[in-house]
Amino acid sequence: MSETLSAVLALSRARLAEAGLADAATDARVLLAGLLDLSPTEILLQADRPVAADDRARIDAAVARRIKREPVHRILGMRDFHSVRLALSPDTLEPRPDTEILVEAMLEPARRIIARKGSARLLDLGTGTGAIALALLKEIPELQAVGADLAPGALETARRNADLNGVADRFSTVETCWFDCIEGRFDIIVSNPPYITRDVIAELEPDVRHYDPILALDGGPDGLDAYRAIASGIDNFLDEDGWIGLEIGFDQKQTVTALFSDAGYTLTDAFRDYGGQDRVLVFSRKNP
Ligand code: GLN
Repeated sequence: MSETLSAVLALSRARLAEAGLADAATDARVLLAGLLDLSPTEILLQADRPVAADDRARIDAAVARRIKREPVHRILGMRDFHSVRLALSPDTLEPRPDTEILVEAMLEPARRIIARKGSARLLDLGTGTGAIALALLKEIPELQAVGADLAPGALETARRNADLNGVADRFSTVETCWFDCIEGRFDIIVSNPPYITRDVIAELEPDVRHYDPILALDGGPDGLDAYRAIASGIDNFLDEDGWIGLEIGFDQKQTVTALFSDAGYTLTDAFRDYGGQDRVLVFSRKNP
């Protein structure tokens, strides 16, 4: 006789806990829900349902991957972010809930531009899965977006995600190092660039260090390389009345603000993340 869902859940949780995973219960629940296409509530309500042998094998294989510290959503290949569902690939950073704060921060500026002009163009530098651009496209029908990335594999994933979320007709991609191959001007430029100080990368959790692409994490010797590249090029690509929205590392508010202030921009808004750390900065051009 096949085992019940609650028995398989308990066993998976025990295997994960034994392997030292801090959130074994959540990990087991999310993995099983994802693999069996059930909601977290259904998992609890259908505790007595039998688990078929092939499902059991898929669950065991997924638990084994998690024990090697592969993140739960990488195992599932998908993750929900703000208003979109995103496929992940080895070339893309797994979008973090904190980055949803950047999406929220740009809704109002985008709507203000659209109220004035009827439409708006957005550039997402280092788009990865497309998370920021695609969530904003989903929220704002009058928006058009370009996703830029150095990694062709990331752009492929971003295009697939645009398709999956029904916004592909307003999304295009450019393979580029920051502004090098970008053409035209934008009303909004956003980025969650690599911002981890190079020396710190070796100390990151194995879940991040071994599975998120290094290109999406490594911010150079002081973590600020990407912000310098963006600040030095932005004048040629941002509209006079445009806005810049950036995710930053927890200790980078002052240094990034100084970089953009030197480039002629003023900090108009700053937001903390769910852990209370500085995480999102919004800039506009300084008044003459
Ligand atoms: N927030 C990510 C982390 O701390 C880093 C993302 C980035 O460098 N942009 O793992």
